[in-house]
Amino acid sequence: MNRFEPNLRIPGPTSLPPSVRAAGARQMINHRGPEFAAMLDRILTGMRPYFGTTGDVAILSCAGTGGLEAAVVNVLSPGEQVVGISIGAFGDRFAKIAEAYGAQVTKVSAEWGHAARPDEIRETLRRTPGVKAVLLTHNETSTGVMNPVAELAAAIRDEAPEALVLVDSVSGLGAVPFEMGAWGVDVAVTGSQKAWMSAPGLAMVAASPRAWAAMETARMPRFYLDLRKHRDALVTGETPWTPAVAVLYQVDEGLRLMAAEGREAVFLRHEACAAATRAGLEALGFELFAEPEHASRTVTAARIPADLDWKAFNGEVRQSGVVLAGGQAHLAGKVFRVGHLGSVTVEEILGEIAVLEGVSLRHGRDVEPGAAVGAAYRAAAAVLGLTRAAVGSGT
Ligand SMILES: *Cc1c(COP(=O)(O)O)cnc(C)c1O
Repeated sequence: MNRFEPNLRIPGPTSLPPSVRAAGARQMINHRGPEFAAMLDRILTGMRPYFGTTGDVAILSCAGTGGLEAAVVNVLSPGEQVVGISIGAFGDRFAKIAEAYGAQVTKVSAEWGHAARPDEIRETLRRTPGVKAVLLTHNETSTGVMNPVAELAAAIRDEAPEALVLVDSVSGLGAVPFEMGAWGVDVAVTGSQKAWMSAPGLAMVAASPRAWAAMETARMPRFYLDLRKHRDALVTGETPWTPAVAVLYQVDEGLRLMAAEGREAVFLRHEACAAATRAGLEALGFELFAEPEHASRTVTAARIPADLDWKAFNGEVRQSGVVLAGGQAHLAGKVFRVGHLGSVTVEEILGEIAVLEGVSLRHGRDVEPGAAVGAAYRAAAAVLGLTRAAVGSGT
């Protein structure tokens, strides 16, 4: 973060570390050669623990939405019963994809700002026999809510043991713990531009053994997104089609940085940045949109106060170098969102809160100079376990 580069606080794409940017500028290599095979192997080895799988992870050259489409078309057939659990705009999108390919989708929608409830999912599964798959969003980027996937997947497994659990973790995986195997998730999807500190262009999709089995009989049309072609190409260290090589360079470097930091440290950093963001925004008088117990660790949504001229306010925030995201769908003009994922640091969040504080003061809002930055830092310090050392008794 400096005067000449914006503090890009949107929930993807994220600002890239210098070494990741440099990696993306490297010369091309033969994508059917040994150098590429070695890189692909490193990426899969680095990524599997984040998914919580020992199985294959397909790397598709497409947006995250392409990964969601791959999840749907590979395991389902037209006419099959699907339950779409939606808690926001991305949950709606996942359900729409299944509908577009002819699935019979029963939608369960939570009030935006809230997580999905296991009892409601159980109830829906009870009155919908023969459900082939349940669609879940791990981290709903439009509302800043993180679903308790372990708990929801357990309810699904219990109520409808045959149903496949397909999870959109595009903005969660890599930033927060995820255990596909232990939680009973069948397909998990993420994207390079979210927690992976890379440019947009890749969707990563992992599947469970029973999802791989379902692909053999699924009849939805697929070609480019056929995960079996990806799995088979992996045997020779390749992807079936020419991949976005430059983004693979970046993900390779991003994973190297994440390995150097350590997985738990990556998770803790995201937790601290989320805590700082929430505390800072609240201290500035903004009401957080998500129910606190399911607040996301990668994106925070806050309500735009009725008495605030948001256009002018946000214009000044932008002038001061901070880029915020607006609201999606019916939340446009109602909330703004702060992304805190990828290479984000607590210090970048403090800088952003300082900018919001300054603009708030200039707008005559009731803000004590330094209070929000202090609140944000204290919240992060609490997560990181930073406390004042006990003062000795004069020895
Ligand atoms: C960003 C995002 C997507 C879509 O990713 P695109 O790359 O824009 O297609 C899907 N789901 C969630 C939860 C996201 O945050």
